[in-house]
Amino acid sequence: MKHSIIVGFGLAGFHYAQQLKKTKKEFLILDKGQKGASRNAAGVCNPTVLKRYTMAWEAIQFLEYAMPVYRKIEVKATQQFFYPHPIHRYFYSPSEQNNWTVAAQSSKLSRFLDPNFNSESIHGIKRQNGYGVVKEVGRLAINKMLDHFIDDLLPSELHKEVFDPTELQILSKKVIYKGIEAKRIVFCEGYELKNNSWFNYLPLIGSKGEYLKIEAPLLSRKNIIKGSVFITPFEGDEFWVGATFNPHDKTILPTEKGKKWLISKLETLINVPYKVVDHAAQIRPTVIDRRPLLGRHPTLKNLYIFNGLGTRGVMMAPLLSKWLYDFIELKKQLPEAVAINRFESYFCNSKKENV
Ligand SMILES: Cc1cc2nc3c(=O)[nH]c(=O)nc-3n(C[C@H](O)[C@H](O)[C@H](O)COP(=O)(O)OP(=O)(O)OC[C@H]3O[C@@H](n4cnc5c(N)ncnc54)[C@H](O)[C@@H]3O)c2cc1C
Repeated sequence: MKHSIIVGFGLAGFHYAQQLKKTKKEFLILDKGQKGASRNAAGVCNPTVLKRYTMAWEAIQFLEYAMPVYRKIEVKATQQFFYPHPIHRYFYSPSEQNNWTVAAQSSKLSRFLDPNFNSESIHGIKRQNGYGVVKEVGRLAINKMLDHFIDDLLPSELHKEVFDPTELQILSKKVIYKGIEAKRIVFCEGYELKNNSWFNYLPLIGSKGEYLKIEAPLLSRKNIIKGSVFITPFEGDEFWVGATFNPHDKTILPTEKGKKWLISKLETLINVPYKVVDHAAQIRPTVIDRRPLLGRHPTLKNLYIFNGLGTRGVMMAPLLSKWLYDFIELKKQLPEAVAINRFESYFCNSKKENV
């Protein structure tokens, strides 16, 4: 019998599988192979909120757990997946310099925000009012990391298929899926949780993000630039430019309006030639209270969920996967802020509606 079946192989499924690998538990991953949010993300790992000059929720705790995890993964794989790049926060006006100076002195942000703003020119970026530099940040090459992990799996550990709920038998001490027995099943489906009839009572909102990939051989590759969009160096001459944030449109279709907006923002920042090589969209799994979704189904004890990574999956997924593992295997309590039982009334109401 397998220990677990994992449905979905984005950052959530990957990190949960890491927890199982570490403890030598056998698992099966079912993933339909369609690129979810993780494979469309920029991969930026940033504990600060540069719009409001605050720290992201529990950022230090998540960051300090995540960085050694990614380093260990790299050592094991003998490949680099995390690329340290300072974020250069672009100042559109001199008044933004003052806001930066104040923020950089605050006790929480001072570790990350360099108090001396940078007025050096960056090749390909318009000269304006300088930049504030965010330290201890960078980019995770998510696709490269996920692909490496897949290459190492046995055929019995990963099935490329859509999970079919009618094929799942839920028994008191195990589940059986198409004849494969496992102690439990962990759903890591990102925004597609919406189609999961056991867990779709949870208030996952979803926020669509559109982005561009551009080729710009003359643009400096040393830094991540943050203006009204992020410009993040990718492989070769490519840069990821994005993203829009739309909680109303739930389709993954890129739009002309989104593209125009991205190009207009990009052109306020760069002054070298570029070519758009891709334009795509995905839905971030954001939750009504902006906190992750971890836990066990209210009545079906072998069904678990790992979701709600929102806009910061890279930084949060490693520690969240440990919390979920410790909850399932070691019976440790989940922090209240992430436990799905905070939404128990939604479950009861959904039952009433179905009567
Ligand atoms: C445009 C954009 C930019 C982003 N930028 C960043 C960033 O820079 N930094 C950051 O930290 N976060 C970023 N995010 C957020 C980040 O992508 C998410 O927090 C995270 O990737 C969510 O991971 P997940 O594993 O929960 O979901 P997903 O990555 O969506 O993975 C779900 C997987 O499950 C599969 N699946 C779903 N249902 C089924 C089923 N029934 N059967 C089989 N397979 C199934 C899907 O195909 C997919 O592979 C961004 C998101 C977007 C959309």
